[in-house]
Amino acid sequence: MKDYRNDIERLKALISYEIMDTPEEKSFNDLAELVSIICNTPAAIISFIDDKKQWYKAKVGTTNTEVPYEETICQYVVVSGNMLEIPNALEDERLSNHPHVHTENGVRFYIGVPLVSDNGHTIGTVCTFDGITKKLSEEQKTALTIIADHVMHLLDISKKNSELTEEVKVILEQKIEEANETIKVTEAAYNTLFKAIEKSNAVIEFSPKGIIESVNDNFLEIIGYSREELIGKKHDALLNETEKENNHLFWESLNKGAFKSGRFKRRHKDGSQIWIQASYSPVLNSSNEVVKVTKIAQNITLEINAEKALEKAKSLADELNVQKDHFIANISHEIRTPINAVLGFTDLLLDEETDTKKLKYLKSVKTSGDNLLHLINDILDLSKIEAGIFLVDSSLFHLYETIENVFSILNLKAEQKNLTFSKSIASNVPEHFIGDKNRLTQILINLLGNAIKFTHEGRVNLNLYLENDSTLKFEVTDTGIGIPNDKLKSIFERFSQAQENTSRQFGGSGLGLNISKLLIEKQGGQINVESTLGKGSKFIFTLPFTISSETLNTAQKQKTKIVSNSTLKILMCEDNEMNQNLMKAVFMETNHSLDIADNGHEGLKLLSVNTYDLILMDIQMPELDGCETATIIRKELKLNVPIIAITAHSTLKERERWLSLGINDYISKPFKKEELFEKIDFWAFGKTDIENTFENEEKTASDTIISLGYLKEMSAGDDRFMKEMLQLFAKQSSENMTLLKESFSEKDFRTVKNIAHKLKTSFSLIGADVLILDIIETENTEETLSENIKKLENQLKNITREINRLLTNT
Ligand code: ADP
Repeated sequence: MKDYRNDIERLKALISYEIMDTPEEKSFNDLAELVSIICNTPAAIISFIDDKKQWYKAKVGTTNTEVPYEETICQYVVVSGNMLEIPNALEDERLSNHPHVHTENGVRFYIGVPLVSDNGHTIGTVCTFDGITKKLSEEQKTALTIIADHVMHLLDISKKNSELTEEVKVILEQKIEEANETIKVTEAAYNTLFKAIEKSNAVIEFSPKGIIESVNDNFLEIIGYSREELIGKKHDALLNETEKENNHLFWESLNKGAFKSGRFKRRHKDGSQIWIQASYSPVLNSSNEVVKVTKIAQNITLEINAEKALEKAKSLADELNVQKDHFIANISHEIRTPINAVLGFTDLLLDEETDTKKLKYLKSVKTSGDNLLHLINDILDLSKIEAGIFLVDSSLFHLYETIENVFSILNLKAEQKNLTFSKSIASNVPEHFIGDKNRLTQILINLLGNAIKFTHEGRVNLNLYLENDSTLKFEVTDTGIGIPNDKLKSIFERFSQAQENTSRQFGGSGLGLNISKLLIEKQGGQINVESTLGKGSKFIFTLPFTISSETLNTAQKQKTKIVSNSTLKILMCEDNEMNQNLMKAVFMETNHSLDIADNGHEGLKLLSVNTYDLILMDIQMPELDGCETATIIRKELKLNVPIIAITAHSTLKERERWLSLGINDYISKPFKKEELFEKIDFWAFGKTDIENTFENEEKTASDTIISLGYLKEMSAGDDRFMKEMLQLFAKQSSENMTLLKESFSEKDFRTVKNIAHKLKTSFSLIGADVLILDIIETENTEETLSENIKKLENQLKNITREINRLLTNT
């Protein structure tokens, strides 16, 4: 028979249940109670049995807690592994000497059910006994078996729980150990870092209220105080008065956990101001409360002072630079005046001198003077650019004409050197361009001039095309001496020349390309050069294509407007022949019909036979003037045809009078074509995008034109017409001048003034100054009148000379 008592596997199984701490103690006791009730016995036990003893896990009706193995009845249950019922113990052989049986009130009845572990071993029993003999019913036995199963079930659950708890405990311990290790490493790193920080920085610790709790030596060195003087003091003690004001806000924010850093002003013990770069870091506890604030700082007083000194030096240098540029700009300007005089007189002498030797000297003076003037102009440009007082104009100009002009200036030089000098402009390059006409001329003259200068034979060519939708590309090509490779980059630098002897051989200052580059870049373009020594060079520059489609459109619209509004019949009352011609030319471009009356009488005559859509009325006319004519038109003829007055100069009072007479609007001479047609559109078609001049007095002050630009514009570049106009001006003005002088000698001052007024229109048309005419018109004394007539005569002489020059040049 198997010795179950010493079965190791059984004992192991038993231990696995025994070691656990079963929290279900009450449940087991309840089950023991249940056993005693079901079996109607005074005592019941749930017990474990090992090789030495049986001990009770739960019990009712007995005081024992354990029994030696030998004295147990349950040992027979363990051995059989089955339920054991002993109805009468006295009759059972196994118990013949049993101490708990063979005694007074000993055990008579016994029943035990094995507690079988999950691996099949009996580790204990559920048993009950009585002092009387009895036998249990089958139901009671089944109930007993169910209870034993339930005990085992409870034991298994507890065992699993305790195993799991154990496992979790192990994992947790492992984790805690790992975390501790990490903390240790982090702490070590932090300590090392903090030590390093402390070594090179000032470190201060504050309480959350800003009380200094600790400082290191670095900080003491920066601030000049001893440790004892600082500990326990408030942060305020380190601040200047101004900083103290808002310091509470600073600390409020720190106490909310905000990190602060920046440059701060602090006060040294000796009262001097110091600058620190500092960071203030609030230290939080586990409940996120600020427990202290650590500040790490560095003294940056020297750096700040150096920065300030540098800034000051820089602004001083800038200022000096601007002063220098202004000085150069002024001085160059001042030098130009005497040089112009020198050159002017040299020109006169050159005209008159016949002695060859003197002529040679004079030519040298002239050449040197020209070079000097050129150099000064370059320097002036440069200094203006640098002083920021150089403005680039941006107005609409005729690109093709500008290029033509440059070519006409340089043609002679190219011809003298027998060079082919040509240009080619791609057909899609627009005729008009918005930019600085004069600067473009300057750039082209410099590049093309250089090309001619450095080319001995072959050709110089300008190519112009569109690089893309928004860029114009200019190429100046020559077959000249070329530029060495190593100089290609530097020739755009100031005073740079490709070869040492360039200046001697070709003249020049080495400023031209630098200025061109600056001018091009100022207009948003770029310049580059390609060259082969001995073969030639190619300068390429771009200019942003700033032609505004709007402007073009407006110009275009203007034209179409003029053409499309073709139904008007217009009467003009004007006695000035020049003006009459001009208006005829202007109206030729349109389909409007224009009738011209020399004075008011003629105008009224025409009005009696024709119907007009609009009247242009000169104010100052012989016989019947503009005001009188307008009055008759409104009051007698009772016509409400729009009347636009055309006038040279007028006062507000006069204009008010015109308005009261029924003149609708006025336009000042010299007026622009568009301006005139806008007004006509307004009054004839009721177009409202144009303003009534009467209502916009301050806007109408027309610019005094002092060149032929106005005439050119009005004649749409028609040279023949311009010529005719100039001839007419010359003829008319000299006739008028004679008439004026005659009238003066006859003391007919009224006529003198009338003639002066009339002349004003003609003068304005060619852009001549009308100041003297103005004075004559308003002059009262005979003496000053005489003086001014002399002045006028002189002015007219100059104008005529200039006109003759122009007429012979064209
Ligand atoms: P400069 O007044 O001396 O002509 P620039 O600035 O216009 O000054 O030109 C600088 C130098 O670049 C010139 O002196 C010349 O050596 C070189 N250079 C400019 N254009 C040409 C060219 N088309 N061919 C050869 N060399 C040129």
